[in-house]
Amino acid sequence: MSSVLRSCMLYHIQSLRIIGARTLTSERVGFVPIKNHELKDPVPPALLTFNDPRAFQSKSMWELIRALGVFRLCSYPVLVNNCGKLMSFTRALLGRRVFAMVVRPFVYAQFVAGETENEISASMEKMNSLGLHPMLAVPIEEDLGESSGEKRYDDNLAAMLECVHMSHSKAWSKDPMMQLKITALVSPELCVKLTSLLKKQHYDLNLLLRAMDGETVTFPGLSETENTHFLLGLSRLNQIGEASVKKVRVLVDAEYTYMNPALSLITMAMMKKFNQESAWIWNTYQCYLEESRELVLDAIRLSVDHSFCLGVKLVRGAYMDKERKLANKEGRADPVHQSWENTNDSYNGSLEVMLNLISQQPDRYKIIVATHNEESVRKAVTWMTELGIARDGGSVCFGQLLGMCDHVSLTLAQQGFSVYKSVPYGSVDDTLPYLVRRAQENRTVLLGIRKERDLLRQELQRRIREKITKAS
Ligand SMILES: Cc1cc2nc3c(=O)[nH]c(=O)nc-3n(C[C@H](O)[C@H](O)[C@H](O)COP(=O)(O)OP(=O)(O)OC[C@H]3O[C@@H](n4cnc5c(N)ncnc54)[C@H](O)[C@@H]3O)c2cc1C
Repeated sequence: MSSVLRSCMLYHIQSLRIIGARTLTSERVGFVPIKNHELKDPVPPALLTFNDPRAFQSKSMWELIRALGVFRLCSYPVLVNNCGKLMSFTRALLGRRVFAMVVRPFVYAQFVAGETENEISASMEKMNSLGLHPMLAVPIEEDLGESSGEKRYDDNLAAMLECVHMSHSKAWSKDPMMQLKITALVSPELCVKLTSLLKKQHYDLNLLLRAMDGETVTFPGLSETENTHFLLGLSRLNQIGEASVKKVRVLVDAEYTYMNPALSLITMAMMKKFNQESAWIWNTYQCYLEESRELVLDAIRLSVDHSFCLGVKLVRGAYMDKERKLANKEGRADPVHQSWENTNDSYNGSLEVMLNLISQQPDRYKIIVATHNEESVRKAVTWMTELGIARDGGSVCFGQLLGMCDHVSLTLAQQGFSVYKSVPYGSVDDTLPYLVRRAQENRTVLLGIRKERDLLRQELQRRIREKITKAS
C-alpha cells in the first residue's frame, strides 16, 4: 500500500476487503446496455480491451464519416494550433450565419448536443437508449480580462438554473449530473485575488456559508467593491445549490492554477452546506499538477473535519500548455508533472485512494473517473472488482466527453457500469471557445483518438463490404 494511501487511511482505518477476482468467460461484447443485476458474464477487467468496432454500430454512416473527418483534421498540428484564429477569420469572411451553417454539420455536431431544447432532447434520448447518462454543461468560458459586470453573471446564473431544470425534469434524465464553472458566476479577477490572499491567510468555511445564507459578511483583504461582488457571486452559487440538491449532482470544473484555490474554497463551502447527506456538489482534481495528490488528501481531511460527503471528479487536466507557458514567463517552477507517465501515476494513485475509501464508505465518498485513458479505466475496473465495489452502485462512475472515445463509453455501459458523457449545448457562437479547446485537447489525447479513428475506419469498411456483398 502506498504511503499516501496509508496517511489517508489514518482517517478511515479499516482493513481492506479484497475479494479474489472472479473467473469469468471472455465474450465478444454485443452493444446493448445491460443493468448490473442482469449481467451474467461480465468481461474481466484484463479483457476489457475496447477493441471492438461494433461499439460504433449505433452510428449512422454519416456520423462515422464525420467523426473520421473531424479526428483527421485534429491530427494536423498547424490546423489545431491556429484553429482559434482560423475560425475567427472564417467567421469574419463568411459572416456569422453562413459560418454557423458551415460549422454546424461538422465540428459542432461532433462535440455539441444542439441549441434548442428539442435538439438537445433528441440527442439525449439517443444517448439514453445506449445506456449512457448525460452530464449537461453550459459552455461558458471566462478568463482574465473578459469579465463584464453583474448583469452578465446574472444571465449566466439564469442559463445555469435552466441547465439544472433541464437535467432533472426530462424523461431521459436518470441520476443526472451537470458541470458548473464558478468563473461564470464570480469574476476570474476576484478568484485570482482570493487565490493570492489564500497564500497568506486562512478563510473559514463558515464565513462563506454565512454569506451564502444572505449575511453581509466582510471578507478580510477584499476592497468594498470586491466584497460586494463576492457576496453576489456566493448568493448566485447558493441558488444553484438550492435548486440542484436532491435532484442533480453538480460537478464544479477545475480551471487554472492561478484561480483554482479560490474555486476549491468556494466549492468546499458549497459541499459543507449541501453535502450533509449525500454528495450533491463535487470538486475536480487535475492530476497533471504535481500538487494534485496533496489536494485530494486535503479534501478528504476537510470532509472528515467538517462532516460532509465528498464527490471527486478526477481528470488529468486540460490547460497544460498554458500553465507551462505562464510558469515559464513568470520564471517559476512548472506546476505540471514533467511527463505524461508521471501524470498517469498521479492519476492512478489518487484513483486508488478514492476507491479504497469508497469501498469502506460508499455513501460518503463518490468519484467520477473522468478520462479517455483506457489503462486508467481498466485499473479502475480492476480495483472495483478487487474491492467489491458494485458496477452500478452509484459511488463510482465513468465520464467521457461527447464525441470522444465512444468505444470506451459504450463498452463500459454495456458491461453494466454507470457512464456519463459531458454534453455541452448552445449556439455555434457560444460554443466556439469550447470547440477550439476540444480540438486542441484532441492533440494531447493522442492514443485514445488514434485508436478511435482505427475502429471507426474498421466499422466503415465493414459496412461498405456488407453493402457490396448485398448488392452483388
Ligand atoms: C467528464 C470530463 C470532465 C472534465 N472536466 C475537466 C475540468 O473540470 N478541468 C480540466 O482541466 N479538465 C477537464 N477535463 C479534461 C481532462 O482534464 C483531460 O484534458 C482530457 O480528459 C484528456 O485526458 P485523458 O485522461 O482523457 O487522456 P490521456 O490521453 O491519457 O491524457 C492526456 C492528458 O495527459 C496530460 N499530459 C499529456 N502530456 C503530458 C506531459 N508531457 N506531461 C504531463 N502531463 C501530460 C494532459 O493533462 C493531457 O490532457 C474533463 C474531461 C472529462 C472527460
